[in-house]
Amino acid sequence: MTAGQLQELGLFEYTLKRSRRRKTVAIKVQQQSVTVYAPVGVAKQELEGWLLSKSDWITAQIQKQSQLLDTRQYPLKDNSILVFAQPMALLYGTNSRCEWRQVKNQPQPTLQLNLSGRVKHKQAMYQSLLEEFLHEQLESYIEMRVNEYCIKMAEALPSSIRIHIYKRRWGSCNRRRELTFNLLLASAPPTIIDYVIVHELAHLKYLNHSTAFWQRVSEFYPEYKQATKWLKEQGASLSWVVE
Ligand SMILES: [Zn+2]
Repeated sequence: MTAGQLQELGLFEYTLKRSRRRKTVAIKVQQQSVTVYAPVGVAKQELEGWLLSKSDWITAQIQKQSQLLDTRQYPLKDNSILVFAQPMALLYGTNSRCEWRQVKNQPQPTLQLNLSGRVKHKQAMYQSLLEEFLHEQLESYIEMRVNEYCIKMAEALPSSIRIHIYKRRWGSCNRRRELTFNLLLASAPPTIIDYVIVHELAHLKYLNHSTAFWQRVSEFYPEYKQATKWLKEQGASLSWVVE
């Protein structure tokens, strides 16, 4: 039997294992992954046509298995989070090591958080895995947008960008050109994150909230009033933190 190779087909991906001894094609769905066993001679096109005809059954099996995982009592505030304002389902599992991974083969974007059996403070560890994931998403978005806006605003890049959870601010900027952003922004719509970025970059020129400062903000983010209103009204809903 040849080593399986990951294949992609429409809604799901599968591992194909071919064998000389095998006479028929078979599918196995286990732990939400699909393996297809096939005789050496069957053409891939023929195989995929047959797989597509079975795709309702395959996706039903995958869903059933994810529900098995999902019915565990969820240790965080919710069993889904918002990532850039889009819902993402959370699954909690175990593995040989602690990790997060985005699960394919799901009807909606899904993040699986796995703990190794040795972890004592499970809730804290699930939470820190979730934060690690959100941190990575937000950091790469902010880095990209800061670069773009610095070019537009003819502003030199900040000296550093840090992301933490803050209770009372969305971002900050100091004399050393160090910017911070609130990790909770990872759940906000990208346009709102853009507003916070423009706001902090405008502070590189004006370290105050003067008329000149707001003029600079509005030049590069004209709808800044709607954005501040959104943060005031919706900001508190962004928290996934278990207190
Ligand atoms: Zn400010």
